[in-house]
Amino acid sequence: MAEIKVTNMVKFYALGMLYEGPKHGYEIIKKIGENLNKKVSPGQIYPFLAKLEKSKLITSGKRGERDKKVYSLTPAGKKFVQGMLHKFGDLVELAIEPNLTKCAHCGCEIFKGGHREKVKGKELAFCCKHCAASFKKH
Ligand SMILES: [Zn+2]
Repeated sequence: MAEIKVTNMVKFYALGMLYEGPKHGYEIIKKIGENLNKKVSPGQIYPFLAKLEKSKLITSGKRGERDKKVYSLTPAGKKFVQGMLHKFGDLVELAIEPNLTKCAHCGCEIFKGGHREKVKGKELAFCCKHCAASFKKH
């Protein structure tokens, strides 16, 4: 099995889209172009799809009256994408973590703003005044 490296956003998006469901090659190219706001050439997609197919992460079948190839993830491919998204999710969490606080009362995440109040000499963060009030009651 060839090693698959997701080295750019085009590959990342292609896998993400296949994770949503089976897609035609041209659907992938068009959608990625829209998402990244740049022109994506078939040469960036088809060799990657071929490699994925060779590694048994995707299969291609036919769908529709024009008999175009449609690609879908195999169970191994789904696992691969889940792993990729998981890794990426960790990165996203690391990137936003410093700005993230939790409401001391209800535990919901406060991205910015919220309500700060001193309770017993300690400044605590709450999502709203009401949470601060009920926190102080207890
Ligand atoms: Zn709250």
